[in-house]
Amino acid sequence: MSLSHHQELHVIQRSGWLRAAVLGANDGIISVTSLIMGMAASGASSQTLLVTCIAGLISGATSMAAGEYISVKSQEDIEKSDLRFEATELEKNPHAELKELTEIYISRGLKPELAHEVATQLTEHDALGAHARDEIGIHENTAANPIQAALSSAASFSCGAVLPMLAILLSPSSWVARSVLITGIVSLALLGALSSYFARTSMLKGSLRITLWGILAMAFSSWVGSLFHVTAI
Ligand SMILES: [Zn+2]
Repeated sequence: MSLSHHQELHVIQRSGWLRAAVLGANDGIISVTSLIMGMAASGASSQTLLVTCIAGLISGATSMAAGEYISVKSQEDIEKSDLRFEATELEKNPHAELKELTEIYISRGLKPELAHEVATQLTEHDALGAHARDEIGIHENTAANPIQAALSSAASFSCGAVLPMLAILLSPSSWVARSVLITGIVSLALLGALSSYFARTSMLKGSLRITLWGILAMAFSSWVGSLFHVTAI
């Protein structure tokens, strides 16, 4: 049997975009729903709530994209500068670097002679690659693409933020606050379960965790909003 039949897809390989997408949708639901709850508690009209929702969606999606881009880029910069430093070290002290790599393999359980042999062969094959993986811990497949991460965050934030907007548009004005709240809680519970399903962890735990934090945020902004309550004339 050929080895290529045994290439299972590991969860970690899709964790970059999955993490960004779930965080984005999560933020979209929590922040926009909380915003609406705060405004509703202050006595704002349905129309004001809708405008608030649109503004929240746009500002949130933009800031998520910028934040995600910057975070991935700065991680990339750190890795690049580490690799540059390692490349210089390899050039200046090849013997010390070979010894360093050998010791890493010994500490991982290889016998000294075998560790030396492995380190020598890997150094001949791709010295920087071996040091990047085994010494620094930089792997090709865990690096996220900054543009892809930014777009995915913005798109998923918008998907999350559209839910409270639909709740405002589709419910009668006396029910707006309640239907936004219920939509928020139900969609957070579903999102938590979905992300745990993809990550192959407990769906109940993931769902409860995300929902509890969401309810806390909504309750807090609702309370703050009620402090500013203005009775409509
Ligand atoms: Zn090294």
